[in-house]
Amino acid sequence: MRGDERAIYRGRAKETNVNGDKRFLTGAMASPSAIEVAETCHKIPALLPFWTRCGKVNCRCTTGQRHGPYWLLRWREGSTHRRHYVRASDLDAVRATIERRRRARSAERATFAADLALLHRLGTLRRELEGSLAEAGNER
Ligand SMILES: [Zn+2]
Repeated sequence: MRGDERAIYRGRAKETNVNGDKRFLTGAMASPSAIEVAETCHKIPALLPFWTRCGKVNCRCTTGQRHGPYWLLRWREGSTHRRHYVRASDLDAVRATIERRRRARSAERATFAADLALLHRLGTLRRELEGSLAEAGNER
């Protein structure tokens, strides 16, 4: 295992389940793939690059040239920031999933805006109609 991979595993070991057990040690709950997270997370997570130090004394990363980029998904659950590391082999699929979800969200928002505009227009028409009916009543 390369040093920079160890750094990632150290990060994973910090992830805990609801009982506060270290998932990494118990193996109780297999972590979902990043593709699953990108697909099923209630919010669309951000895909972020990061660079890391491996810890070797004479490595280039000690003088600022860190290893990477590696990628992680990050999102918020309430006030908690959550993250999920993305395997290099999953990166393209994760990127495609996020893009697809963003396009779907844009389409939903456009539909909602159009529906709202229609609703406002109907309200205006109703008020105009009520106004002209009242006028017609007064002229009788
Ligand atoms: Zn290094």
